Amino acid sequence: MIRVVLTSPPQMSSVIDLHSHSTISDGLLTPFELVQRATAQGVRVLALTDHDDVAGLDEARAAATGAGIALVDGVEISASWNKRSVHIVGLRINPAYEPLRDGLAAIRAGRSERAMRIAAELEKIGILGSLEGAYAYAANPGIISRTHFARFLVAKGIVKDTRTVFKKYLVKGKPGYVEHRWADFANAIGWIRASGGIAVLAHPGRYDLGRTNLDSLIADFKEVGGEAIEVVTGNHTAEQFIQFANYAREFNLLASCGSDFHGVGESYRDLGRLPALPSGCKPVWHNWPEMSPELAEHVGRKSEAPSAARV
Ligand code: AMP
Ligand code: MN
Ligand code: MN
Ligand code: MN
Repeated sequence: MIRVVLTSPPQMSSVIDLHSHSTISDGLLTPFELVQRATAQGVRVLALTDHDDVAGLDEARAAATGAGIALVDGVEISASWNKRSVHIVGLRINPAYEPLRDGLAAIRAGRSERAMRIAAELEKIGILGSLEGAYAYAANPGIISRTHFARFLVAKGIVKDTRTVFKKYLVKGKPGYVEHRWADFANAIGWIRASGGIAVLAHPGRYDLGRTNLDSLIADFKEVGGEAIEVVTGNHTAEQFIQFANYAREFNLLASCGSDFHGVGESYRDLGRLPALPSGCKPVWHNWPEMSPELAEHVGRKSEAPSAARV
């Protein structure tokens, strides 16, 4: 019997998505495929923000030109703030800017070294071959991430899905977790700004910080030149959209939105499947030529209906 079911609940769609990953970091689609998917989802302004690498931007730009959408040059830099890992998204960066390139190269070198330590820890609990195993999932050997280890452990049948791998093995206090020193927080923001870009504090709700630490992170971020925070992101709950809209207003920061899409089945939200910024937020794209007033009107518009599929 053929039954028609709703594949997803009704959701919003946005023509702008300023946070996404390709196979250049830990995404599952090539830059070309990512742009194709974004276009099919109705996105008209897309930022590719791979972790610590800008190598996908040329391919993404060519694809975007072909598809008639705007590509925003982006990156997501792994940084350390008070010994915690935080992510800084750079938007409208100049990917050719040497100090930025050098900084990213140093982070990538640190990733290779960290990967060896992760593999050594996993070996101690009897999981062998994880270094080679993780690299087999890294299309770009320059960026080896915990996500690649997670995919290897799932493929080995050790854990059922990547989310569970993180919970059981790859986060603080678990056997495959290692401490790591990422880029200096102020330097990361400085490279982005000096290259002509805007520094955005990525998914502030994901760092598991109490009110005091969160206030101090956001104050420090602003102090060293950060200009925007992600308010609407695939990593935030609806309550956090409101919470961080309030932070943006309180700290006079611009607001950004992005899915943080990594691939189907690995991300909470698909490309462009984002609600509008809460009212009172000043969008990070307020003065961008890519965002015509016509397009800006369509940000976060309610989609017509959920898609249906046969099962
Ligand atoms: P890394 O930069 O190597 O430390 O890996 C961080 C990446 O792992 C993030 O960018 C996410 O893509 C992914 N990640 C982090 N935490 C989780 C989680 N709890 N479940 C699934 N993926 C996660
Ligand atoms: Mn990632
Ligand atoms: Mn991130
Ligand atoms: Mn991301």
